[in-house]
Amino acid sequence: MERMKIEYLSLKKITEQHSEEIQEAANQVVASGWYLLGEATKTFETAYTDYIGTRHCIGCGNGLDALTLIFRAYKEMGKLKEGDEVIVPANTYIASILAITENGLKPVLVEPYYSSLELDDYLMKRAITNKTRAVLLVHLYGRCAMNEAIAEVCKRHQLMLIEDNAHAAGCTYNQRKTGHLGHAAGHSFYPTKNLGALGDAGAVTTDDDELATVVRSLGNYGSERKYFYAHKGRNSRIDELQAAVLDVKLKYLDRENQRRKDIAEYMIAHIDNPAISLSFDPIADNVHHIFPVFCDRRDDLRQYLHDNGIETALHYPVAPHRQRCYKSLNKLSFPVTEKLARTELSIPCNPTLTDNEVEYIVETLNRF
Ligand SMILES: *Cc1c(COP(=O)(O)O)cnc(C)c1O
Repeated sequence: MERMKIEYLSLKKITEQHSEEIQEAANQVVASGWYLLGEATKTFETAYTDYIGTRHCIGCGNGLDALTLIFRAYKEMGKLKEGDEVIVPANTYIASILAITENGLKPVLVEPYYSSLELDDYLMKRAITNKTRAVLLVHLYGRCAMNEAIAEVCKRHQLMLIEDNAHAAGCTYNQRKTGHLGHAAGHSFYPTKNLGALGDAGAVTTDDDELATVVRSLGNYGSERKYFYAHKGRNSRIDELQAAVLDVKLKYLDRENQRRKDIAEYMIAHIDNPAISLSFDPIADNVHHIFPVFCDRRDDLRQYLHDNGIETALHYPVAPHRQRCYKSLNKLSFPVTEKLARTELSIPCNPTLTDNEVEYIVETLNRF
């Protein structure tokens, strides 16, 4: 097969798919003279509310803010207090953990199963103490992380369920969208995400009227109405330009996710190399934000793919508990998470890939 050159993810190509519509939407905002908390934001929030199925969607600055604002709002509402424990996967992006510690809450890290990458519900049960108040469930890689065992643990122990839906826009569980499975969810529209803006943006979705009001207020300095402040808030808003772009791109999200699924399905069916393992649970819905493969010789595989024109990424090379910023967690041991950090390699998987490119990726992997 002829050598190809394949970027891990070309944001240029992602945007070019809809560039005319995006430019038209952006032009309208530019011409409107109104750049924050206006019609474009309202329109997108309504569209995303309809899409996720929740009663509320509150746009905010980014995905980390979305999660941080949820925990902060629960503190303002008296449902969480400093020192309360939040169960969170050990194998996640740092932002999931930052949202917890930022609020003076204690992250209690739980390992995934190596076979499915799902949160180990046995370890999760063992991690529960009389201070455990919530679970932050992360739909990592775009795969729905919810299952009956986790739902059962949350119900039995009356834990609040908060979703980190940064990887999983458009994913479903029992006919509900992720982002509508628990009490509240944080969404990221970082440009590389399945629903990506042209800059930073995020949102909180929830069915809880009070939470929605508090989150909206916290993101706007804590104001109840102009110049009257109920909370010591911050500034975290989605801007009109990003909202307008997202409103265009949301219309294509399902189609683009379907293309990701088709690509992933092909790769799962055709990758055939004993050195490369695919950890996936075919039951859970998966919008394939990231297509991870696992290989003991990960760095060699990465170099080999690079030499063959295929760029890859790592999600994530160093687990949160091994980071310098979390000294107090450094002594903990999470062998599964550490093994994933050592062996994970993210293969290109996005709607701009052509069939030829996907075939080339598979053939190259099989020749390793
Ligand atoms: C991207 C991401 C976030 C944070 O989103 P930002 O918009 O970049 O702040 C949170 N959690 C996970 C799992 C992410 O991948």
